[in-house]
Amino acid sequence: MDIWEKITSLAKRRGFIYPGSEIYGGLAGTWDYGPLGVELKRNIKNEFWKTMVQERSDVVGLDAAIIMSPKVWEASGHLSSFSDPLVECKKCHHRFRADQLKGDRCPDCGGEFTEPKQFNLMVETYLGVIEGEKLKTYLRGEITQGVHVNFKNVMSSTRVKLPFGVAQVGKAFRNEITPGGLTFRSREFEQMELQYYVKPDMKASLKTFEEWKKNRMEWYLSLGMKKGSLRFKEHAKDELAHYAKAAFDIEFLAGEEWKEMEGIHHRGDWDVRRHQEYSGEDMTYFDEETKEKYLPYIIETSGGVDRAALFFLMNGYIEEDVDGETRTVLKLHPKLAPYKVAVFPLLANKPKLVELAENIAGELRKDMMVAWDSRGNIGKRYRAQDEAGTPYCVTVDFDSLENGDVTVRDRDTMKQERVKIKGLQAYFAERLK
Ligand code: ATP
Repeated sequence: MDIWEKITSLAKRRGFIYPGSEIYGGLAGTWDYGPLGVELKRNIKNEFWKTMVQERSDVVGLDAAIIMSPKVWEASGHLSSFSDPLVECKKCHHRFRADQLKGDRCPDCGGEFTEPKQFNLMVETYLGVIEGEKLKTYLRGEITQGVHVNFKNVMSSTRVKLPFGVAQVGKAFRNEITPGGLTFRSREFEQMELQYYVKPDMKASLKTFEEWKKNRMEWYLSLGMKKGSLRFKEHAKDELAHYAKAAFDIEFLAGEEWKEMEGIHHRGDWDVRRHQEYSGEDMTYFDEETKEKYLPYIIETSGGVDRAALFFLMNGYIEEDVDGETRTVLKLHPKLAPYKVAVFPLLANKPKLVELAENIAGELRKDMMVAWDSRGNIGKRYRAQDEAGTPYCVTVDFDSLENGDVTVRDRDTMKQERVKIKGLQAYFAERLK
């Protein structure tokens, strides 16, 4: 089994990710996050928000509607850019316009093409109640535009001054031709983004672009991604998206293949200029110092929450030999681990042990996500928590009743130590920082 198959199996088995609408035979390109997956994803988003909004004085947050006026997508170029006859290579997923191709095999890798389709990646929807008068609109294909259409609102309702950023996390929808690779390419997914507005000075803005590249790479490393598993990949100039002046991807080595996880793009003034043109609203920024009015340049960092979750799982997945048996462990960073601690009564049929364990779990739950398990032997319970990525397990035994202490077992080292029940909160607070 390769890492993709292993993660797919573990994700289903342990309740990270299930196929969408599974009991009805599934719905291609959709996924449901189970009890562990929802925590992992929430932790990733919380860490993003903490670093990108809470800890910065120059960034504010926003949560725009998923459904926007169709004019937004006209202005952003999404409608015109995605209505060509499109084919996609089944192997490398590069997309091409069917009417511009010379051969019938992919020029990049020789792979086979899907059938050509008049293809628009935007997912259509209709609003209104009267047949014939319904408004055709779209589920947003990227969360980006919700920020740019609010550029004026943010400026006038806050005290921001250039340079400043607006961060957003939310769902996006794309009618992908070939969804696949677990959640890697889904039709419904989540993005975490920053749109950073700067003065329209190319040299200075490229410096800011470099700073954001560095910043985002460091964020993934600080949450436990291995250095050798990440790299920057520059977009070739002739492959740049219609809006982009420069673009780099942060890629993750997923098994044998490097895969895009996040894009850092220099968007020039494309979005604000187009929205100014299409809406008729003045989108310029008034610079108090120079008394000039101008459209700002935009540096964007755009990451996929689902791709990050998938790659954090792959990054943490380890199989090791312990006394002739294979131990599967998810070495997730404690900040990302779904459960921080699991609490076990040694024996489920001893009410005193269960009661004490319940009290301990109840106290810890005030501060963190706590798992509970009283089934099977302790060894099996440890293995289950290893696979769930839980950093610590606490076992309540008969000595606990006498001495007021418990066994704490560390996921990564498997070392065990006795810790006083009274000091448990402080013990974990220190280690989960
Ligand atoms: P790709 O080339 O893989 O289709 P993209 O370059 O079109 O991706 P962007 O439009 O730059 O992607 O979106 C920013 C981020 O959103 C991507 O880096 C990725 O993490 C995430 N993303 C984009 N499309 C999908 C999808 N279909 N499923 C899951 N995540 C996605």
